[in-house]
Amino acid sequence: MAVQPSLQGYVVEGLPIIKPGDDIAALIESLFNIQDGDVLCLASTIVAKSEGRFRTLESYRPSERAERIARQVGKDSRFVQAVLDESADVLLEKPFLLTKTRFGHIGVNAGIDQSNVGGGRILLLPEDPSRSAERLRRSLNKNCAVIITDTCGRPFRCGVTGVAIGWAGISALQDWRGKRDMHGKVLEITLEAVVDEIASAANLLMGEAGDGTPAIVFRGLRFPSGGKSSVFMPEDRDVIRPFLRR
Ligand code: GDP
Ligand code: MN
Ligand code: MN
Repeated sequence: MAVQPSLQGYVVEGLPIIKPGDDIAALIESLFNIQDGDVLCLASTIVAKSEGRFRTLESYRPSERAERIARQVGKDSRFVQAVLDESADVLLEKPFLLTKTRFGHIGVNAGIDQSNVGGGRILLLPEDPSRSAERLRRSLNKNCAVIITDTCGRPFRCGVTGVAIGWAGISALQDWRGKRDMHGKVLEITLEAVVDEIASAANLLMGEAGDGTPAIVFRGLRFPSGGKSSVFMPEDRDVIRPFLRR
């Protein structure tokens, strides 16, 4: 029996420390030949760096609310103010600060990072990661998909994984509804979060520490494209959020 590889993952080696204004698409193209049908996954960290999303804590004037939350979570009140500034909604103030970013992603500390940043600074997430993905995809000028990832914790499960916080050229969700299972039963509710599944595999190859490998390319994946689907749960369908608000 001939076994064909169905999916190849390439770690793009040799990217420098990214600075504001760096052309990430050009840097990657100089190291790796992206082809039609590829899925390029980028750690949000380098996209944010290229977009100049560095801040210093000194630039924040904490509000009374930030001071209060900071006491509860044991963080610097200026850091808390940065989180509040990036957030459209606060879901949990303790034991950690869980918020919805302005672009719709829910995460701890609005995804603001202090690791792999350097110089005592903090790094905000890209302002609109799907817009960043679209811009990068256009400059690559290939019929590829671009996914921007971040490492996140998950409710009900231990350990962090990669998730997609922005995407372009790919549908966030694969719709299996109407397809038949192995016994002929029609599937009714299965939407598969393909961008998260890919982001998670990419995150596995990126590493979390000083590996210096924020770009992964997957080849050989058949992925759905078109449509405007999202992995961000709309608030009116979210059954968990109301309980956090009590
Ligand atoms: P996040 O998951 O987007 O928050 O990013 P991480 O901080 O976990 O970093 C993911 C990967 O990108 C790791 O391999 C880091 O070493 C790498 N990385 C982060 N910043 C840079 C950078 O500026 N240049 C390079 N070459 N790699 C970086
Ligand atoms: Mn991060
Ligand atoms: Mn990470």
